[in-house]
Amino acid sequence: LYDTRALQKLDSAHYMHPFTDHQELAAKGARVMVRGEGIYLWDSEGKKILDGMSGLWCVNVGYGRTSISEAVYRQMETLPFYNSFFNTTNVPAVRLAALLVELSPPQFNHVFFTGSGSEGNDTNLRMVRRYWELMGCPERQTIISRHNAYHGSTVAGSSLGGMGGMHAQGGLPVPGIVHIGQPNYVEAGRGMTEDQFGLAAAGWLEAKILELGADKVAAFIGEPVQGAGGVIIPPATYWPEIQRICDQYGVLLIADEVICGFGRLGAWFGSELMGIRPDLITFAKGVTSGYVPLGGVLVGDRVADVLIEKGGDFNHGFTYSGHPVACAAALENIRILLDERLVEQVAQSTGPYLKERFASLADHPLVGYADSCGFVAGLNLVRKKGAVVHDCEAFKPEQGVGMICRGYMFGNGMIMRAVGDRMIIAPPLVMTKAQIDEMIGKIRFCLDATLADLQA
Ligand code: PLP
Repeated sequence: LYDTRALQKLDSAHYMHPFTDHQELAAKGARVMVRGEGIYLWDSEGKKILDGMSGLWCVNVGYGRTSISEAVYRQMETLPFYNSFFNTTNVPAVRLAALLVELSPPQFNHVFFTGSGSEGNDTNLRMVRRYWELMGCPERQTIISRHNAYHGSTVAGSSLGGMGGMHAQGGLPVPGIVHIGQPNYVEAGRGMTEDQFGLAAAGWLEAKILELGADKVAAFIGEPVQGAGGVIIPPATYWPEIQRICDQYGVLLIADEVICGFGRLGAWFGSELMGIRPDLITFAKGVTSGYVPLGGVLVGDRVADVLIEKGGDFNHGFTYSGHPVACAAALENIRILLDERLVEQVAQSTGPYLKERFASLADHPLVGYADSCGFVAGLNLVRKKGAVVHDCEAFKPEQGVGMICRGYMFGNGMIMRAVGDRMIIAPPLVMTKAQIDEMIGKIRFCLDATLADLQA
């Protein structure tokens, strides 16, 4: 049906991919995805693949939902585009804003729409700085984030993010953004219980605020569970202590829920699960399950009241802010999440089942540590296991064991991502218990293959 070689040739000749080694791409050829249904994808060679990553953490309701394509079609026929600048609006955007307010924690009564999560975080940066200007504290401009965080690829997004590989290119981060350590117990918690480490890691925020002076700090930004940084699930003590510190110093709290929102952790928003009250929430991905691009910021009353009452106009916006087609897709996607009770299902049934089954992989000789939260999970590949996680012996990074394992996964029809030697998943929320068993079987098979490869 498809001429894969011809497509790959055209692809490597003309398509500049995001986050891709183009020499490797030219040598190997891209995998051409052509169809999706439920939790499965098919490539141009007819190979069926279990998508353990929901695309890029986004296809929460699974592939092939015709009711979303029908909603998109109807909206395109009725009104394919109109902007919401200068006192205009459109029906799906109004309805979606109201629905998001209904689903979000009580401090949220306003929504600012963008086209992506990166634009959402750019919006946050401008919003918090504008807030402090209007509050008569224009020197409160610095935003504190965390190393290894991913907050997008725009200049502000990648500066807010803490990825070394991104900061090494093009003079990032831009001034006014600083980073503290991530709450990674496995890497930094030696000699402490998880709870002690959670408090210690939150203490890095307080230390940074005191170093800079609280009167210079505008906001702290973090994902409830860090996704692209390697599914870093913080100890239970971490976020409540971060909230206490933000409250004490008046620092605004931004929760980047681009991954964690819309059921990913078994709650509508991960902030609820972590027991925090953010002032701003970034969302994208799961709001439309990736069917069409949409992102935005939930603006809490503390910020919205000042921007609206004191600010007049906020000189910021995108052509596609509140795009009617994207908002129509989001409305239908959220209807599916609600009607099929997918968030509750992850919280009460499939999430706990995934936790149990995923944890069982820790008996594999290659697995030093396996943990999950809702429908994100990760396991650390280690050379030698130890009595406690900190005593596990890591592989040398240049061995690229994570990538070897990822290769076996691809080869065996399973998408699992490697962040160094941490293998991570974020499957579609529609995954059933039987499909979880199928996935765990594939992972175990590929761990065996990786082990055999290393021993060969
Ligand atoms: N924030 C987080 C936590 C993300 O994971 C991502 C994307 O992966 C973004 C922001 C950026 O979103 P987008 O790629 O839609 O710009």
